[in-house]
Amino acid sequence: TQSGRNVMTQLAEFSISGAVLTPGQDGYDDARRLWNAVHDRRPAVIAQVQSAEDVAAAVRYGVENGLEIAVRGGAHSMSGASAGDDGLMIDLSGLNTVTVDAEARRVRVGGGALLGDIDAATQPHGLAVPAGVVSHTGVGGLTLGGGMGWLTRKYGLSIDNLESVQIVTADGSILRAAEDENPDLFWGVRGGGGNFGVVTEFEFRLQEAGPMIHYGLLFFSADQGTEVLKLARDLNPTLSPDVNIIIAALSAPPEPFVPAELHFATGYGLVVVGLGSAEEHAAVLQQIRDELTPAFELVTPMPFTALQQSLDEPNAWGHYSYEKGSYLTELTDEAIAVVTEHVPLKKSPMSVTLFYRLDKAYSAVDDDATAFGGGRDDRYAVFIVGQSPVPELYEGEQQWVRTFWEALQLGGPDTGSYVNGLTEADEDRLRATFGPKYERLQQLKAKYDPDNVFHRNANIRPA
Ligand code: FAD
Repeated sequence: TQSGRNVMTQLAEFSISGAVLTPGQDGYDDARRLWNAVHDRRPAVIAQVQSAEDVAAAVRYGVENGLEIAVRGGAHSMSGASAGDDGLMIDLSGLNTVTVDAEARRVRVGGGALLGDIDAATQPHGLAVPAGVVSHTGVGGLTLGGGMGWLTRKYGLSIDNLESVQIVTADGSILRAAEDENPDLFWGVRGGGGNFGVVTEFEFRLQEAGPMIHYGLLFFSADQGTEVLKLARDLNPTLSPDVNIIIAALSAPPEPFVPAELHFATGYGLVVVGLGSAEEHAAVLQQIRDELTPAFELVTPMPFTALQQSLDEPNAWGHYSYEKGSYLTELTDEAIAVVTEHVPLKKSPMSVTLFYRLDKAYSAVDDDATAFGGGRDDRYAVFIVGQSPVPELYEGEQQWVRTFWEALQLGGPDTGSYVNGLTEADEDRLRATFGPKYERLQQLKAKYDPDNVFHRNANIRPA
């Protein structure tokens, strides 16, 4: 990296259609801010790009001047990958145009768009891109790592619905990657993260979802933990792809639908989302209630867009967060015992443990078809998230996450972790996650980014 003064001299040669910000300028502090308040980073230059050509110019400028490059999509990476100190931040947030072709069932999405931008454009047509569960998350980082949420059982990961990308590589070339053009690169961007370049546009296939869905939150107290987890384990594989249950170990919110004595009580939520008929959804809820009486529940139809925003506020910007994740191919009794031991030990009401169910459409995709890290057999992606509104609780929650995660490594083959659910993605974890694909990714990295220009990510070392 270089001193601010050198950067100022070199800036004279750097011109793009968007703004170029340096410390002290209006907008600089907003632009460098990240979702996770743990990271307070001060780039030397922020390039607020408006086009693929801007991105190419920014990449060349960064490389020629020896500036470390950080690429900012939605700024939601736990590790704060999207801003570094003293380097160049390529801020994609202005590249957020979403263009729908409802007839062809395709959508083109700017590399810096948020999930909510897609929903806003596609839902008027009753269409959606399978993505994540919080609407202020960036499409860029989420997609490049895989992308999972409410529609995964029915339609697969975000990358399973990707048709093509426009991407700026480390030498400043603007390429298209799809099955029929640069297919190796297209394979790599579907799971290999931002390692191969800056994606300026994603083209997705659109799927039918909404405009209304059926929502059910059934909350159980902490002492029902073992029973709830066993119930969900047995129920999940029997469900049609139109029903998706996310298991959430969380503190009950202080909302009007929650009895006052349960405000902030730790327990287990089964969030049951129905994409099909009201009857099917109601029957699943009744099946749960017949076995176990919830402490409270909230059941209502709602717009798909409201579902997609229902977790926005608890996951707002500016909290102090740390996360580790694992795949569990089985929710064994042993794993359940670990979960019920550790869940009640969290200190922050904001900390959560989530289990996303991955099967059906997810498992129908050939594991070798994409670079995605994680086998395609049925499984849960587990996210252990320590989150606190104040810095004082952060270290304790970080320790809680680490101890919990260690305990969940129960021996047997290491099935890796979802790359988008990791604060620390060291090489060991990535090898466990990608398995034999890791070496293929290293070859690809050597071809498209031999000098590891794009390394602020779950980094694949060039072969
Ligand atoms: P950023 O920090 O901007 O980027 C993350 C990484 O991707 C960085 O390395 C960055 O350089 C790179 N990158 C971003 N955009 C591009 C691009 N266009 N081209 C090249 N590289 C790029 N994941 C799920 O799958 N499902 C969920 O439901 C889900 N929910 C989440 C909810 C919250 C509140 C949070 C914080 C995260 C969630 N995630 C989820 C994880 C999420 O997918 C990752 O945090 C992801 O990295 C976010 O992408 P971003 O663009 O917002 O982040």
